[in-house]
Amino acid sequence: MPLNACELEIDLFCNGMVLPADVDLAGARAMTRTRAGLGSGLEIVIPTGSLLKDEIWVNVPVVESFAKHSPYVLRGAPSTGYSIVERRTGDCYPVRVPEAPSWATRETSRGVPMTRVGVLQGTYLAIYANPVCAFWSMSPQMNCKFCTTGHNVGENEAAIKSIDDVVETCQAAKAESGVTFVHLNGGYQGSRGIEFIKPYVKAIKDRVGLLVGVQLAPEKEFAKYDELVAMGVDHLSFCVELNDPDWFAAICPGKAKVHGQALYFDAMQYCATLLPRGAVSGEVIVGIEPIEQTLKAVDRIVDLGAFPTVCVFRPTVGSDLRRFGPPSYADVRQVMEHVYAACRTHWMPIGVAPNVEVSLVVNPDDTALLAARTAGFYVYEAYRRMARLAAGPMFRARMRPAA
Ligand code: SF4
Repeated sequence: MPLNACELEIDLFCNGMVLPADVDLAGARAMTRTRAGLGSGLEIVIPTGSLLKDEIWVNVPVVESFAKHSPYVLRGAPSTGYSIVERRTGDCYPVRVPEAPSWATRETSRGVPMTRVGVLQGTYLAIYANPVCAFWSMSPQMNCKFCTTGHNVGENEAAIKSIDDVVETCQAAKAESGVTFVHLNGGYQGSRGIEFIKPYVKAIKDRVGLLVGVQLAPEKEFAKYDELVAMGVDHLSFCVELNDPDWFAAICPGKAKVHGQALYFDAMQYCATLLPRGAVSGEVIVGIEPIEQTLKAVDRIVDLGAFPTVCVFRPTVGSDLRRFGPPSYADVRQVMEHVYAACRTHWMPIGVAPNVEVSLVVNPDDTALLAARTAGFYVYEAYRRMARLAAGPMFRARMRPAA
């Protein structure tokens, strides 16, 4: 039986896709290796055919070695449209290959290509705002083993992004691509991370008017989060990555040594008291540690009042884990079903922010497509719909430039 859109999303993350040389991708978004390197695949959009949500955005792995053996292959052309064919079953899934944004070929007024400032990953704008994560310059290097930020920032994207360049890129993305949300991340910067990001947040809030998310290493001084929230930050996320302390220390040596795993959960819990429900998230990776640990991480995050964002492990080219294999569909599906169940149990208002579709992960609200249609399902879905409607005016107000 053909897969539904979320099942296909999961299977594409786990298997990747073959991109034949004769498939014409003229006008498509460039495949770029920026930030941690996860966005190095091909962006596609899967129509769901469901009332739950219209479409699902996926950044499909195509360059990693496992993708070369995928049962999925892309067919089509700009003039005829595209589809993904599962070669073993013959199932054919129509998809859309989104066009590169109109601003992709432009430079800021300081002469910096806008794509070296920010990239679209799904429907949001992603900007690595801070200098290269300090874990990369330690001796010995303490970078997370799945990450390639140290190879990308300064190579595929500008090492330093000026505030004016960021503002101009955000303005173009908002006006021409309909972006509503910009995500600023920056790895570990000592105790300067939040101080460094604050002027960017202020400038975007004052001069552009976008929802702003910030993702940095956790601060020990929690009062700094009060300052960020007072400046108008809309979303805070914490990359705890792995639940088992031993796996955490082995895969994220810098995080384990400098912060300790508990700080990620503590900061998450604190921030969940500052922002509205559904505005703080904990990010974990499925496919490195045993699956039971990922399930526990999901529970731990929702128990703290945050929502889980689960990233399917991708052995990205150039990372220390590049020779590892991706996880199985069955494991990832089990975790994603659990994400939905955990969010439902905690009445987490997932998928409420307007037009925020992240192509690098299985969005929590995508997982509704995996859930059994019980009475509890319909009650929760009605609640999510009401929450979306009720939050509309608030989001519109927060997307007006403050200055
Ligand atoms: S904290 Fe880890 S994942 Fe984040 S940028 Fe640094 S090395 Fe990469």
